[in-house]
Amino acid sequence: MSARIIDGKAIAKEIRAEIKQRVEQMAVRHGMRPGLAVILVGKDPASEVYVRGKIADCKEVGIQSELIELPVEVTQAELLRRIDALNADPAVHGILVQLPLPGHIEMRSILERISVEKDVDGFHLYNVGGLITGDTIFPPCTPYGVQKLLDHEGIDVEGRNVVVVGASNIVGKPLAVMLMQKDATVCICHKKTRDLAQFTILADILVVAAGVPGLIVPQMIRTGTVVIDVGINRLPDGRITGDVDFEGVRQKASYITPVPGGVGPMTRAMLLHNTILSAERTLGERPKSFKLSAL
Ligand code: NAP
Repeated sequence: MSARIIDGKAIAKEIRAEIKQRVEQMAVRHGMRPGLAVILVGKDPASEVYVRGKIADCKEVGIQSELIELPVEVTQAELLRRIDALNADPAVHGILVQLPLPGHIEMRSILERISVEKDVDGFHLYNVGGLITGDTIFPPCTPYGVQKLLDHEGIDVEGRNVVVVGASNIVGKPLAVMLMQKDATVCICHKKTRDLAQFTILADILVVAAGVPGLIVPQMIRTGTVVIDVGINRLPDGRITGDVDFEGVRQKASYITPVPGGVGPMTRAMLLHNTILSAERTLGERPKSFKLSAL
C-alpha cells in the first residue's frame, strides 16, 4: 500500500481563492476590507519568516495588514498599550501577537488583553474555554487547518480512534477537543506517555505534533492509518522535516501529509479565514459564534 499524499499546499490555495472572493465582495458591497494587525517583538529569525508569510498571504487575498515591529526590550505596559489601541481601531478585525515572546513579558496577560472578537489566533482563554463547551468564536488555526484537511479528503472522524501525539495548548489539546466534538474517540499522548507505540497502533487517524523528527516509524501504525504530521523541525543540514518517518510510514498509511506542504499552509489559510470571518461579523453577516460540531 502506498498512501495518498494530502496536498495541504493545494488545498490552502483553494481556501485562499475562496477568501479572496469574499474579500472582494465585501469591498464592493460595503467599501471595506478586513484588517489584520500582527505584532512582532524582537528579531527571532523563525518568527520573522512566519510573520512575513502571513503578511504576504494577506496581500494575496486583499486583506489589509499592519505589521508592528517592537524591540526585544519593549515593556509589558507598552505592549498592552499597543493592543488596547488595536482593540479600539474599527479597521482592525484581527490581532495576532507572534509567539514566543521574550521572557520578561507575561504571555497570558498579553493574550488575554486581545479583544475576544479580534482573537483570530484563538488563544484567548475565553476562546479556549469555548472549545470545551462546544462553541467557538475563533477555532485555533493549526487544529482548524487539520480538521479542514480531513474534511477535504472526506475522512470522517465520527466513531474513529484518533490518537494525538503532543499535548500543547496551541495544537494537541485544542485539536483533541475539536475532534471529540465531532464524536471521535480521542487519546492524547505526551512526553511522559509510556510506550507510545501501544497507543499509536490503535489509531485510525494519527495526528503528530511533538516537534521530534522521526518519532513515528512504520512499526508504530496499523496498515491503512491516516497520518497527519504537524511537526516542523529544522535538521542540522537546514532541511525541514516533520515528526513522521515519511518514506517508511507512507508505505503503510492510507493518507499522509508531507512536511513541508501539509499542515503548515493550512494554518496560514485558517488565519485568513478567521480574519474575514471577524470582519463579516462586524457587518452582521455571520453569527457571533459557531457550534464546533457544525464546523
Ligand atoms: P510544544 O509546545 O513543544 O509541545 C510539544 C508536545 O509534544 C508536548 O505536549 C510534549 O509533551 C509532546 N512531546 C514531546 N516529545 C514527545 C515524545 N517523544 N513523545 C510524545 N510526546 C512528545 O510544541 P507545539 O507548539 O505544540 O508544536 C509541536 C510541533 O508542531 C513543532 O514541531 C512545531 O514546530 C509544529 N507546529 C507546526 C504548525 C504548523 O502549522 N504545521 C503549527 C504549530 C506548531 P509534554 O506536554 O509532556 O511536554
